[in-house]
Amino acid sequence: MIIGITGTPGTGKTSACALLTDADILDLNKLIKNEGRNLGIDEERDSLIADMDAVSDRVREIARVGAGSGVGGVGENLIIEGHLAHHISDIAIVLRLSPDELELRLKERGYSEAKVQENVLAETIDVILVEAVEWCERVYEINTTGMTVEEVACAIREILDAIGRGIVIDGYQPGSVDWM
Ligand code: ADP
Ligand code: MN
Repeated sequence: MIIGITGTPGTGKTSACALLTDADILDLNKLIKNEGRNLGIDEERDSLIADMDAVSDRVREIARVGAGSGVGGVGENLIIEGHLAHHISDIAIVLRLSPDELELRLKERGYSEAKVQENVLAETIDVILVEAVEWCERVYEINTTGMTVEEVACAIREILDAIGRGIVIDGYQPGSVDWM
């Protein structure tokens, strides 16, 4: 099973995953960049255009090799992280952040005004959540607004643990966040 930790850029995926040291989480953006699984640069967005077919093939290959051996996942699961993770995940954990807070973070990150607004709009209208619900078998949603990185990591750990043990947990139902 591929578990994807996803969300609009800036919602805190990489920061939270860095604290989950007991899990081996694959950074999709790094894979796309370092292994050249991209179709070139999107000049307008100043970002790499991911070759999702190639990324998907590679992630599935890693999942096959890693499953059960402890490489790249926990038990039979492979965990991946990045704003495209839900494209190739069976289960998605979607991080949400209030658009106002997201705007501040992305500006601080030095994103262009256009890129800030594009991402703030995407977060406001739930783009990634809707895609995840459409494409993935199961979706969990975490409203990270007002949470520390440690608290977000803790929530992710709780969800991963529940998935691993096959139990139901409350509090992360998709659709619980509404910025409108
Ligand atoms: P993503 O990987 O989702 O794009 P990052 O983890 O890179 O997001 O975080 C984006 C920015 O927000 C970074 O500057 C990071 O320090 C900050 N950040 C991440 N999580 C939190 C949090 N829970 N509270 C405050 N700032 C955060
Ligand atoms: Mn990131």
